[in-house]
Amino acid sequence: MTDTLVPAAEAARAEVAALRLRTQMLIDGQFRDALDGTRFTTHNPATGQPIADVAEGGPADVDVAVAAARRAADDGRWSRVSPGDRKRILIRWADLIEANGRELGLIETIDAGKPIVDTVGLDMPETATCIRWHAEAIDKLYGQVAPSPEGTIATITQEPCGVVGAVIPWNYPAQMAAWKLGPALATGNTVVIKPASTTSLSLLRIAELGAEAGLPDGVLNVVTGPGDTVGEAIGRHPDIDCLAFTGSTEVGRRFLTYAAESNLKRVLLELGGKSPQIVFDDVTDLAAVAANVAVAIFWNMGENCSAGSRLIVHRSKRAALLEAIQAELANWPVGDPLDPATKIGALISRGHMERVLEYIDIGRAEGARVVTGGQRILEESGGWFIPPTVFDGVRNDMRIAREEIFGPVLSVIEFETETEALALANDTPYGLAASLYTHDFDRAHRVARDLKAGVVGINAYSEGDMTTPFGGYKLSGFGGHDKSVHAHGQYTETKTVWIQLRSAG
Ligand code: NDP
Repeated sequence: MTDTLVPAAEAARAEVAALRLRTQMLIDGQFRDALDGTRFTTHNPATGQPIADVAEGGPADVDVAVAAARRAADDGRWSRVSPGDRKRILIRWADLIEANGRELGLIETIDAGKPIVDTVGLDMPETATCIRWHAEAIDKLYGQVAPSPEGTIATITQEPCGVVGAVIPWNYPAQMAAWKLGPALATGNTVVIKPASTTSLSLLRIAELGAEAGLPDGVLNVVTGPGDTVGEAIGRHPDIDCLAFTGSTEVGRRFLTYAAESNLKRVLLELGGKSPQIVFDDVTDLAAVAANVAVAIFWNMGENCSAGSRLIVHRSKRAALLEAIQAELANWPVGDPLDPATKIGALISRGHMERVLEYIDIGRAEGARVVTGGQRILEESGGWFIPPTVFDGVRNDMRIAREEIFGPVLSVIEFETETEALALANDTPYGLAASLYTHDFDRAHRVARDLKAGVVGINAYSEGDMTTPFGGYKLSGFGGHDKSVHAHGQYTETKTVWIQLRSAG
């Protein structure tokens, strides 16, 4: 049964009160406390109130989890299960996630401040879809036979890396876990994964459903706790073969250091962005463009690595587009994330909200003009809310146009010529996503080709779907192509077997 119905606010509150939350780590098939018994408190971003105390792991817990994952990798209890059986277990897991989507969505909403319409309606179905998509590929991908000389056979096959470490962020806790776990488990690896400590709860429940679906003990291990202890211990662990990370560029750099100073494990990085949205002068339906622009920057409170945070608009369309965006904002109510009418929930933490407000102050001081938003709201709720904020009159060399804000803040920058638009779009240290709006076919292709970004949307804001890889250029990371069969290659080693045949006697 699929449980994707978004509950009404009152029902949602009653269901939240009845939730049975998992707060222990899952290691070797057992839910456990940290070895030293430490716990930390996770808070509801919409109220500022504590939700639960979660086991706070440390390096010793990582050691136990990696040992379990290593045993499971070495004895082949997962990698040597027939592809069809591995597929069946993962599909059962995806089905369970879907069937429990409402419960998982409620957990995600109270732990991450995300609107219930998104967590129940999008995040959990997408999480299930991701795991199912990779599972379905398992018994459809073939190795190769090389064109070797007569009397020889050479096969080229993919083998699991072994033990994969994954460290994931708080903006899409369940989905980011699935983007790593889907391909890593489908290709036969075992995993030790750390959620962001602000958002541990959905992954713990998802991992429990994995055990229920039949994942053998030790194949999926979840260690909860802070980045600078648990995350670093995973990054430096000598018995982890591959590390997948999504988060800030700063911490991504650290993972490269950890790998360089330990066992040179493979590092896959999906990092930040400062993505451009270019609007050319030939667009006609500005309301449609405004709707896309709003999704690109305000969806998920702007806490999105591919957020279209720079609107680069032709001078002749700037004023009209700004008006259309302001009209569009009527469709983006900010409020209680448990209310199905809410489109913008709370920012992840007080610290993060203060950081976003600091950027808004910086923008004002730099001379940009706030058109809408620009201050904290709903303070009486105890939560961390900032409404959609639009800065006009931004220059691309201002800090608000160069640094990742990771909040609902849009910078509007004018251009005159196509060459200028492209130069502005590419003048960023990041290169994750970009979108462009034009009805000129040639220009669309020309500009898409020349944009230095991993994902380009033409007349749409899009991260693609499960069939397309997602990853960036420049400071947005490398090696980290989530989704699609491109993700499978990242978690496998390539092996050549050269066979000499005896001549016929
Ligand atoms: P981080 O990069 O710090 O967090 C991402 C993950 O890394 C979390 O699980 C975190 O653990 C872990 N981590 C933190 N420090 C270390 C460390 N020293 N060694 C190993 N792992 C570590 O992001 P923040 O939460 O601090 O957010 C800061 C900024 O990063 C945001 O404002 C945004 O600009 C960017 N960001 C980008 C994301 C993306 O999707 N690309 C996602 C999240 C943030 P824990 O949180 O438990 O300490």
